[in-house]
Amino acid sequence: MKILISNDDGVAAPGLKVLADALAEVGEVIVVAPDRNRSAASSSLTIDVPLRVTKSSLGYFAVSGTPADCILIAHHSVLKGELPDIVVSGINMGANLGDDVIYSGTVAAAIEGRFLGVPALAMSMASRQCNHLETAGMVAKQLTEQLLREDLGKDRILNVNVPDIALDELRGFKVTRQGHRNRDNVVVPARDSRNKPIYWLAPPATGKDAGEGTDFHAIEHNFVSITPLHVDLTAYQAFDQVSSWVSELSL
Ligand code: MN
Repeated sequence: MKILISNDDGVAAPGLKVLADALAEVGEVIVVAPDRNRSAASSSLTIDVPLRVTKSSLGYFAVSGTPADCILIAHHSVLKGELPDIVVSGINMGANLGDDVIYSGTVAAAIEGRFLGVPALAMSMASRQCNHLETAGMVAKQLTEQLLREDLGKDRILNVNVPDIALDELRGFKVTRQGHRNRDNVVVPARDSRNKPIYWLAPPATGKDAGEGTDFHAIEHNFVSITPLHVDLTAYQAFDQVSSWVSELSL
C-alpha cells in the first residue's frame, strides 16, 4: 500500500508527523507537503512561478506551493506517474467545520487526491492547541484502513474532525452534515506603525447552524465528526426550478 500524505500547515507541522507515523503502520507513506503554512489556500494552484521541491531531515518532500500543487507534484514527479492507493491530508491544527471546508487547504489536498481517482480523507483536530494529536492519529489509521477496504466511489471524500481529548475520553463517531459559521466580524481593521489602515481577516467565528446532526455539534459533544463530501457542487435539487426559468427565456 502506498499512502500519500499532505497537509496545509506545512512540512514542519507536528500534525503531519503524527499522521505519517500513524499511517506507517498501514503501508508505505510518502509525505509531500507545502514548505510553509498554506492554510486557507483552498484548491488554488500555482501557475505564475515554477515549483521547487526539497527534502526535509525526516525524508518528507517540501514543495514551494499549495496543498493541491503538492498532490500533483507527488503523483507526476515523486511517484513518477504512479498512483498512490489513498491520499490522507492533515492532521490540521485547527477545525475544518461547516463553511471552513470551502477555504481549507487540508480538504483541498484530499479533493486533489480524489481528482487523481483514489480514495481520500481530510483529518483535522478541532483545537488550536492540539494537545492530543495522537487521538487523531488513531482515528486516521482506522478510517484509512476502512477506505482502503471499501472506496466511497469517485467524487466522494471524507472530512474528519477530532476533538482535542484523550482517546479514552472520546464518546464515539458521528456521521454528520456540514453546519455553518456566523459571518460577523470577518474583517478587523487596525493601524500599522505608520498609522496607515490595515485589515486582518478574523479567525473563524462560532457555529451558527450548529445543531444536532452537524459537524459542530458532534465536536462539541466529544464525538469524532465524519462528514462525507462530494466534490461535484451541482445543486441537483435546483434543476426543476432553473429549468422552468430557462423555458421562459428567449434568444
Ligand atoms: Mn491548516
